Amino acid sequence: MINIGCHLSASKGFKAMAQSCLAIGANTFQFFTRNPRGGSVKKIDRDDIEAFLRISKENNFAKIVAHAPYTMNLCSARESTIGFSKRMMSDDLERMEYIPGNLYNFHPGSHVGQGTDAGIEKIADALNEILRPDMNTTVLLETMSGKGSEIGGNFEEIACIIDKVKLQDKVGVCLDSCHVSDAGYDITGDLDGVVKQFDSAIGLDKLKAIHLNDSKNPVGSRKDRHEKIGEGFLGADTVKKIVNRSEFQGLPFILETPQENLEGYKNEIKLVKSLVK
Ligand code: FE
Ligand code: FE
Ligand code: ZN
Repeated sequence: MINIGCHLSASKGFKAMAQSCLAIGANTFQFFTRNPRGGSVKKIDRDDIEAFLRISKENNFAKIVAHAPYTMNLCSARESTIGFSKRMMSDDLERMEYIPGNLYNFHPGSHVGQGTDAGIEKIADALNEILRPDMNTTVLLETMSGKGSEIGGNFEEIACIIDKVKLQDKVGVCLDSCHVSDAGYDITGDLDGVVKQFDSAIGLDKLKAIHLNDSKNPVGSRKDRHEKIGEGFLGADTVKKIVNRSEFQGLPFILETPQENLEGYKNEIKLVKSLVK
């Protein structure tokens, strides 16, 4: 069995996401913790959370993934942006305690000309300020395509950040199949090699979630344009290899593909399940 789901709109709350999840044959999902391009946040609704916890328990949901807003940049050149980003992450993690034991994914950040080393330093410093020993959430750094001045376009950069984090058991990695291919890792030609590279740089024990996306562009393009499963440069064969990889079993697989509606995701989930041996 595969733990699979897709990115869902959080606008109607947790109970609605759990119901959508069931309706499309999923047992996990991802959502934005707040407006992805802004930062505004909704008030905690305890009844809604209760309903979600009940549905997810009754249906044995896998871990779900919260996604930080795109405006977050823990290594910005502007101190005010770093401050804003740190407050958003702290607040998000406080709210995550209402749904304990899940995952919180964020984009490491863009160093905007300060250089990779300075960026890595700032991200690690921020995490060391924000993470708490009593937290029940694992914070995930997402592997990026390496466009612009993005940090996390290779496994070594992610490993460098994690190495500097004091609370090691609170951090992990989310591997995005479109991003790693766009970043130059040939998962179509040599998935074995890429998994080995991940393991030697970061360690497979740190891998906590997969973003399962096809890519509109060939390996190394550094574009970050997701495609529907089987319709891009990875193709169904590569996706089949990914979902059957022994090292990835038990992880939540989240689709972030350009489907128009839930019906599209329902069909795509069915397709992915048909690829599982
Ligand atoms: Fe992302
Ligand atoms: Fe992603
Ligand atoms: Zn992406």
